[in-house]
Amino acid sequence: MRALVFEDGKLRFEAGYPVPGRPPGEARIKVTCAGLCATDLAIFNGYMDFAGVPGHEFVGVVVEADGESLTGKRVVGGINAACMKCEVCNRGDETHCPDRTVLGIQGRDGAFAEYLLLPERTLVPVPDEVPDEAAVFSEPIAAALHILDQVTLPDSKLVAVIGDGRLGLLVAQVMANSGCTVDLYGRHPERVKHLSGSEIKHHTGRPLQDRYDLVVECSGSPDGLEAAYGAVRPLGTLVMKSTCAEPVAPNPWQVVVKEINVVGSRCGDVNKALPELAAGRIKTGFMIEEVWTLAEAADKLNSGAATGKLKILIKP
Ligand SMILES: [Zn+2]
Ligand SMILES: [Zn+2]
Repeated sequence: MRALVFEDGKLRFEAGYPVPGRPPGEARIKVTCAGLCATDLAIFNGYMDFAGVPGHEFVGVVVEADGESLTGKRVVGGINAACMKCEVCNRGDETHCPDRTVLGIQGRDGAFAEYLLLPERTLVPVPDEVPDEAAVFSEPIAAALHILDQVTLPDSKLVAVIGDGRLGLLVAQVMANSGCTVDLYGRHPERVKHLSGSEIKHHTGRPLQDRYDLVVECSGSPDGLEAAYGAVRPLGTLVMKSTCAEPVAPNPWQVVVKEINVVGSRCGDVNKALPELAAGRIKTGFMIEEVWTLAEAADKLNSGAATGKLKILIKP
């Protein structure tokens, strides 16, 4: 099959990559559309020491599975494949299973290929009214919605989101849909014109200091994290969403002096993302800037063509 392969710090296209053998309990999915995200770019910079086929945002059609009911269905999936046997899994924390593999991130080939494998239990059928180009955003939307499972929204309903990239724009919409007024900080004011009518206000400067009960950091940069620490008011909450290859050393004293509640936040439940897309509550179409084929993606990525682009889709 055709696939992008990341190995020894380099990304290449392979036309004859072996189709993975299907273990019991897993489904083989023909990928129809995959999304490139900041985590992928971090992986190409060494994050997670990953080798294999990258890519974890996808929509596809099940071509082979144990359960008859899944075959032929258009699906998205949770990206964590837990062992389901260990103590962590038994207490229901499957996304933290120490023996898990993660699609295109850790120990499991991912979505930048014609086919991928995932445990059947992680798959969710996509409603007909949600096109592939929207369904492919399910994983990052689930990650944005996960914040609502982790923190109580402040009475002030005033939230700062640091970073106006893909994840920041999704998080800002989730927060606005939850009744919050969102101050979105970033360098691209033009991006929020597509979100007019929502309670999202864009700012290009440094965030106000000690101002916000809740700050969500989505910038993917050490500077953004530093700004986020400064923006939280004493006793406020900082949600950290970015994944970065480079180590950062933010000033931890602010956490102590301001007694900030720091919450790490990763993946969410893709089941919760699809109704948001089906109802049109989260806008994604404006983020898609380019659509590449697998065959051209490696050269484009190696030449830096993804830099500064909001969302790139890869179709086999
Ligand atoms: Zn992602
Ligand atoms: Zn486990």
